Amino acid sequence: MDNLLIGKRIRALRNEQGVKLERLAQHMGRANSHLSAIENGKRDAKISDLKAIAEFFGITIQALVENKEPTGRDALEIEMAKIQRGPLFESLGIKPIPVRKSTSDEVLSTMITLHNELERMHSDRASTPEEARRANAELRETMRARNNYFPEIEKVAKQLLGAVNHSAGPLSQRLTADLAQHLGFTLHYVGDLPHATRSVTDLRNMRIYLSRSTTPGSDPRAALLQALASFALGHREVKTYAEFLEQRIEINYLAGALMLPEASAVKFLKNAKEERELAVEDLRDAFAVNYETAAHRFTNLSTEHLGIPVHFLKAHSSGSVAKAYENDGVLFPKDALGTIEGQTVCAKWSARQVFLEQDRLAPYHQYTDKPNGTYWCTSRIERGSQGDFSISLGTPFETVRFFRGRETKRRGQSTCPDDSCCRIPPQNIAAKWAGKAFPSAIVNSSLLAALPKGPVPGVDQIEVLQFLEARSD
Ligand SMILES: [Zn+2]
Repeated sequence: MDNLLIGKRIRALRNEQGVKLERLAQHMGRANSHLSAIENGKRDAKISDLKAIAEFFGITIQALVENKEPTGRDALEIEMAKIQRGPLFESLGIKPIPVRKSTSDEVLSTMITLHNELERMHSDRASTPEEARRANAELRETMRARNNYFPEIEKVAKQLLGAVNHSAGPLSQRLTADLAQHLGFTLHYVGDLPHATRSVTDLRNMRIYLSRSTTPGSDPRAALLQALASFALGHREVKTYAEFLEQRIEINYLAGALMLPEASAVKFLKNAKEERELAVEDLRDAFAVNYETAAHRFTNLSTEHLGIPVHFLKAHSSGSVAKAYENDGVLFPKDALGTIEGQTVCAKWSARQVFLEQDRLAPYHQYTDKPNGTYWCTSRIERGSQGDFSISLGTPFETVRFFRGRETKRRGQSTCPDDSCCRIPPQNIAAKWAGKAFPSAIVNSSLLAALPKGPVPGVDQIEVLQFLEARSD
């Protein structure tokens, strides 16, 4: 039920009956500000609040919260409030205007029309990869709501590890193979895996095909664990891009949960928290995984088990976001549709600053004052097949006391998304080069191309079937 709508209804009832805010608040046993926040839709009304209000006006709670479409002025004000909190408005960086009684209906409806038209233009421009971008943004919301912790997948991991008698510590290559055997698969390493695939699973003959060559920087267990994860989770062919993304998240989650089992990883992290020595490097070393896997797994467990909110950011050396997750309120760069991938990270953040360091092996830590608070982040550069990426893990100032590296003297100031922060060149240089600098961009084809249709986006189904046919008995 919409907070704004309930708030409006309460205020309307009060005005109709000439009841002062103070009087109703008093009846509820609440501060005036509390009621005011409810009426403005900025606070959830508790059941006890609703009960007291309904009782005061002699109506049922049902009547107060029923899902009736608002009309006239109410509808305009609610629409306007939603718009002013939305990603398009935020991305424009303009200050919300207060909607007063004296604001005319015409002004409101013109602003709403302008907004909707602008949104339409943005989504037209983004129409090809739009589905992917929307699905990404929605999925991030879901992960945030769950603190990036999926108990049902932890359970599957525990059962699988139990089946191969893995009790603690890193998951060896041999145990990974045992796991495949337990699930009924034979493993086949080939030199001609279809393009854009990490593995191909043949459910007719219960075989998993993997590449004979390994990609530098990637974990040799990862491709197999992901194939097994997909099977163990009962994944079937997907119908939408959203389902594809969801499955990919689940597969990565289960693979991580197998390499860093919940029970032993939590024990390890709780110890480190107690010692105030939390460090992604230690988690990485204790479970023999790569840094990104360790940092990602940290975000699964940190809020659920350690009570620490975090953010995770993988950024290319060009500054563009490859992956991001947060439940600590940090504001990632966003476009009008709420998309974060592909946006440019603030140059003052540790995810960018770490690239300026000479010593790439030493851990990099930094405090950054951001518009909504101070955050501490640790960043590390990892080399991937598409270049250098920084992997960053951050937490608000309040929870940094548990992390190693908190005594760093490095500080940054970021006022992004304000353009003057890091997006406008110094005036003298800008003037000198005005109209005389023309770089040519490498077009990122994957951003422009429509996703090829087929069961797995980006993978040629014919090639996969020919591959399997050639090997089938
Ligand atoms: Zn900035």
